[in-house]
Amino acid sequence: MTKEKTLKDCTLCGLCKSNCPVFRSTKLETKGARARAILIKENIFDDILKANNMNKKENCLDVCGKPGTSGIHGFDDIILQCTLCASCKIECPENIDLPKEIRKARQKLIESGKETPANKIMIENIRKYGNPFGKQQPGKIPKELYCC
Ligand code: SF4
Ligand code: SF4
Repeated sequence: MTKEKTLKDCTLCGLCKSNCPVFRSTKLETKGARARAILIKENIFDDILKANNMNKKENCLDVCGKPGTSGIHGFDDIILQCTLCASCKIECPENIDLPKEIRKARQKLIESGKETPANKIMIENIRKYGNPFGKQQPGKIPKELYCC
């Protein structure tokens, strides 16, 4: 088996986006696996997050560096819209585990207090009811369905 490499070895070839479901459905380079690889490899994600945390009023910044509105927006969406399907890992000729890097980036977002409302509710439900859907009533389907 080929040795797993890190994002430092990424050649930006773009093969990872060929089967990325987010890229395939949006047809946007900025939503694909390579965009996530670039954001993390080039420290753009860390830099924006740092700048963002220093300026609490401007609760988020988009990829272009423009101040955004509060909440989840722009560059963090690129990280959060990943389905963690791992197709990019399978396609990568360098054997880079991009989903692992995306999970780390998500952890940083959560640590900075940036998470989607759905994620917040899901975590609360798990803590309270032991499942992501909330209070269960026999024979009834929950009105809202959340999934990780
Ligand atoms: S396939 Fe691998 S080497 Fe190519 S851009 Fe994606 S992560 Fe980088
Ligand atoms: S794990 Fe994320 S970035 Fe990789 S192919 Fe799946 S959706 Fe795209």
